Amino acid sequence: MIRIAIQSKGRLNEESTALLQEIGIGIDDSKRKFLSKVPNFPMEVLYLRDDDIPQVVSCGTASLGIVGENEVAEKGLDVRVVKKLGFGGCRISLAIPKDSPYEGPQWFNGKRIATSYPRILKQYLDSQGIKAEIEIITGSVEVAPAAGISDAIFDIVSSGGTLVSNGLKEVEKVFFSEAVLIAYPNLSAEDEQMLQTMLFRIDSAIYSRDKKYILMNLPKESVEAATKILPAMRSPTVMPLAAEGWCAMHSVVEEDGIWDKILQLKAIGAEGILVLNIDKIIP
Ligand code: ATP
Ligand code: MG
Repeated sequence: MIRIAIQSKGRLNEESTALLQEIGIGIDDSKRKFLSKVPNFPMEVLYLRDDDIPQVVSCGTASLGIVGENEVAEKGLDVRVVKKLGFGGCRISLAIPKDSPYEGPQWFNGKRIATSYPRILKQYLDSQGIKAEIEIITGSVEVAPAAGISDAIFDIVSSGGTLVSNGLKEVEKVFFSEAVLIAYPNLSAEDEQMLQTMLFRIDSAIYSRDKKYILMNLPKESVEAATKILPAMRSPTVMPLAAEGWCAMHSVVEEDGIWDKILQLKAIGAEGILVLNIDKIIP
């Protein structure tokens, strides 16, 4: 039985749950407790605040965890970062009042900076040779300058809308984060085996993300041009059609930019183009 810690609620909860479900670990989110057993997989899920996940994994209370790289770096504990998971992307940035002139990081010398990430901030300030005062605040960091608590903030940014509505501007993007799978550094052989099983499935899930299956009828002379438009995993599947001079071509394509590709395919004579969802790809 392997134990994995995930965020109980918040920005990473839904996608962590979805990823586990996608790789066949049938966790029932509606019935979740603090600790729940997965019905179809030898696994227990521990639901925690994201701040607590690095610690339980570093001491082995949970063998695995899904958490933001920002929390891993901030806690500075000994955990093995096994895999970036491709969701929960954000950055931690320095922001200052929007009307303040800014010419570079030296602006922060002698200033007070409010943050929930003092460790990551200190590393940055040290690396730049800046001496500033760090005010630790756990919630609503963005209101600190207006409240007179600080001159600047160091906080998570995704779209930047919160900064603008608080009269701030982002001036230094310091730390880029996404959700990662972390592991206890001294896993038992049995847990390591389980981790490898999960990784195989996670790789397939990540690889399949944003990919579609595309098939179409194509004049035979257009096959080469179509192959250039649709570089497949190895090469596209081409099958003859009963109609003379025509074939069917199947391939896998990134969803991003798919409409452009469809136009290009039509321009070389493709007809009856179908785009289908893919459940799993094992590359
Ligand atoms: P908890 O109650 O579990 O402590 P929290 O309030 O600390 O939750 P959330 O806001 O749910 O945390 O964010 C969890 C993680 O999601 C962050 O640590 C970060 O890695 C990631 N994240 C992605 N985008 C954002 C964003 N726009 N704002 C905050 N966190 C984000
Ligand atoms: Mg938290």
